[in-house]
Amino acid sequence: MKKESVVAKKKFGQNFLKDQVVLQKIVQAMPKNDNKIVEIGPGLGDLTKYLVDVKSVDAFEVDTDLCKLLQGEFKKEIATKRLHIHCGDVLKAWKSSLVDETYDLVANLPYYIATNIILKALADPMCKNILVMVQLEVAEKFCAEAGQKVFGSLGIITQSVGASRIIVKVPPSAFEPPPKIDSAVFLIAKKRDRPDKDFEDMLRVAFSQPRKTLIKNLSFKYEKSELLVAFEELKLIQTIRPHQVCTNDYHQLYKKIK
Ligand code: SAM
Repeated sequence: MKKESVVAKKKFGQNFLKDQVVLQKIVQAMPKNDNKIVEIGPGLGDLTKYLVDVKSVDAFEVDTDLCKLLQGEFKKEIATKRLHIHCGDVLKAWKSSLVDETYDLVANLPYYIATNIILKALADPMCKNILVMVQLEVAEKFCAEAGQKVFGSLGIITQSVGASRIIVKVPPSAFEPPPKIDSAVFLIAKKRDRPDKDFEDMLRVAFSQPRKTLIKNLSFKYEKSELLVAFEELKLIQTIRPHQVCTNDYHQLYKKIK
């Protein structure tokens, strides 16, 4: 099969990034270090081409037609072990870590599983940085600050692990075929491990009804009297909403009520 005759498969979330300026911005934003690169969903190889120029790459692609095409396009890089293509579903290949050396995830992700992939990468001790294109709305959740309406569990988990920022917003016209929504590239620089499961369970309860007060949500699972003491100690007013509390206060609250 030739690259030009590939028809994008909706079921695999295939929107190929064609804008060379955006591709270069992704490469320029890559952290400078000795980590290997993992690319999830190399597709037609437009980003892969830039990545193998900089570092060695492990790429995971579910579409067997695209795997064959990539094996033809990147014969030389595969022979010199600059590129390793894993053909199959990345979620099935992912054990506690995805590869057995430290890596940065750099990818234009399949949007239907993007949040799941990022959460797995945040929990993967081998993954050190995450530089990915996703739906704009999802990028904004991962990069949100306390006080913003979209600040929630994803923002708190991200801030607990490291620092995040949006690199560039990307319009539908940058892709072939164009998706119906805006996209964005964002970077998470990991500094610590993902918080423990019980902390994340507390977040789920805290944001179960995002427009209600935090204390009301938390009192579904935790003792109201203990919550009142903890709120008092942390100087949190009782009418505060879940998105108005900063990450550090969530950790302090967890220590007091767990
Ligand atoms: N990186 C290419 C680009 O920027 O043009 C393609 C990006 S496209 C948005 C997402 C890619 O992820 C597609 O190639 C798709 O086949 C692949 N993909 C979808 N689900 C996958 C999965 N579960 N495991 C691995 N790859 C997957």
